[in-house]
Amino acid sequence: MPDHNTYDAIVVGGGISGLLSALTLGKKGNSILLLEKNNALGGNCRTYEPEDYPGWRVDTGIHAITDLIYGPLRQLEHYFDPGKFPTFRRHNDYYLRKKDGLEKFPSTLPGFLKMNALPAKDKVILAGDLMNSVISRAIFGEKQKAVYDVVSKHRLSKKTMQFVNALSYLLSGLSMEKTSVSRFLEGCGFSSSGKRGMIRRIAETMKLFNNSGYRSQGYPLGGIQSITDGVIASFPKNVEYHKSEEVQKIEKDESGFCVSTPEADYLSDKVIYSGEVKKLPGITEMPVEWSQQVKQLEQATAMTIWLGLKEPIPEFNYNGSEVFYDVCDIDKELFYWLMPVPELAPRNKGLVGVSTIVDPKKCHDSEEKLLNTIYSLVPAIEKNIEMIHTQVMAPEKAAVSLNYFPSIKTPVDGLYVVGTDTDMRSMGITRAGYSVLELLKSL
Ligand SMILES: Cc1cc2nc3c(=O)[nH]c(=O)nc-3n(C[C@H](O)[C@H](O)[C@H](O)COP(=O)(O)OP(=O)(O)OC[C@H]3O[C@@H](n4cnc5c(N)ncnc54)[C@H](O)[C@@H]3O)c2cc1C
Repeated sequence: MPDHNTYDAIVVGGGISGLLSALTLGKKGNSILLLEKNNALGGNCRTYEPEDYPGWRVDTGIHAITDLIYGPLRQLEHYFDPGKFPTFRRHNDYYLRKKDGLEKFPSTLPGFLKMNALPAKDKVILAGDLMNSVISRAIFGEKQKAVYDVVSKHRLSKKTMQFVNALSYLLSGLSMEKTSVSRFLEGCGFSSSGKRGMIRRIAETMKLFNNSGYRSQGYPLGGIQSITDGVIASFPKNVEYHKSEEVQKIEKDESGFCVSTPEADYLSDKVIYSGEVKKLPGITEMPVEWSQQVKQLEQATAMTIWLGLKEPIPEFNYNGSEVFYDVCDIDKELFYWLMPVPELAPRNKGLVGVSTIVDPKKCHDSEEKLLNTIYSLVPAIEKNIEMIHTQVMAPEKAAVSLNYFPSIKTPVDGLYVVGTDTDMRSMGITRAGYSVLELLKSL
């Protein structure tokens, strides 16, 4: 094997977790090869022009990046070259869009009690459930209970249970039976995702009354691609990447790993795999028990419809996003998350993305229903429509369930996994960032 095919580490997959792994290890002076099977880098973190609509640009799903003040992206910022770290605009408030208009989604307990969307009795019961969960989490630590197990299900109306279920789908991609209380509280801003001592956790319960809301969430100017582009532009010379090259086999012997693609074999002592963990046993030999455990990872499917508008419309004249509420009666499709993304639209046009979790077998029905719901709630959209582009994708390689998550270090010495199916904290790109921080600690 020629020397030029030997690297300090090989990264399999060029989504944001693979790219950040290559960047950080490369900046530490390691020679890195990153292999991506698609013809573009970024995975689920890309912005592109839909084929039939030149001039329009859309992201791979709508994005609000969490934990931007102290979270993992901020902790990784110093690996970016000067001026390459993206600029984020603040994602302000969340709203509920009801049949009679928008209502701001509260970020404190008193705000929640003032909400019009739920019956008064249910709000008091839910507020009690919320207080109990926050306080018992503060005192007893990271207990992985399901949302379903902490709400007073027999005392709440069907409508309120649907509301809690819809929020669970929004925050984890799964029903309230499978969504952990921690994910729910973090997503609502009542608790942080990092590990905390008891005193810090108790202090955090004050967020129930004085929460700075969603001030740590943002959207990167220039689209989600600017995160991917910032990483690639910061790669030092010792980071090499190949696109359109799928890793089909990883073999290990006493001299290290051999990573094989249809084009070549590459050698290294370390492999960082950032594809779906569940698929790793398909390309390399893993212990049977580990392979069985990773099969438990659950994935949700999201549909996003991008709607290009002839002009910006006043209905979306806010900086934040909205969740549709009480608009249809099938549990998971209760939640539609809509976000205006004016910066991707051509000049003087408008762009909004709407996402929902769908049953992958019923995509066609879901698309029609989603469009009809949007048109009925905001009639101005239908009159203004110029572009419709639909995406069906898995938002994360594993939705945050109560199940087992693998650790970064696999049972095979020198083989590591990163990405959204290896860390339960926060969501999406932030989760991918946490996994890269864990990788750096493990190496
Ligand atoms: C609708 C939607 C909404 C979202 N909303 C948000 C949000 O609001 N906030 C947020 O933070 N995140 C959000 N996300 C999620 C976020 O975009 C992803 O979780 C994140 O980009 C995943 O990064 P990753 O690197 O872990 O995985 P991926 O992006 O899946 O990257 C894995 C890469 O590995 C490659 N690969 C796999 N196997 C191989 C192989 N054998 N050989 C070579 N290459 C391989 C794949 O082609 C892919 O490019 C959303 C996503 C969607 C779809």
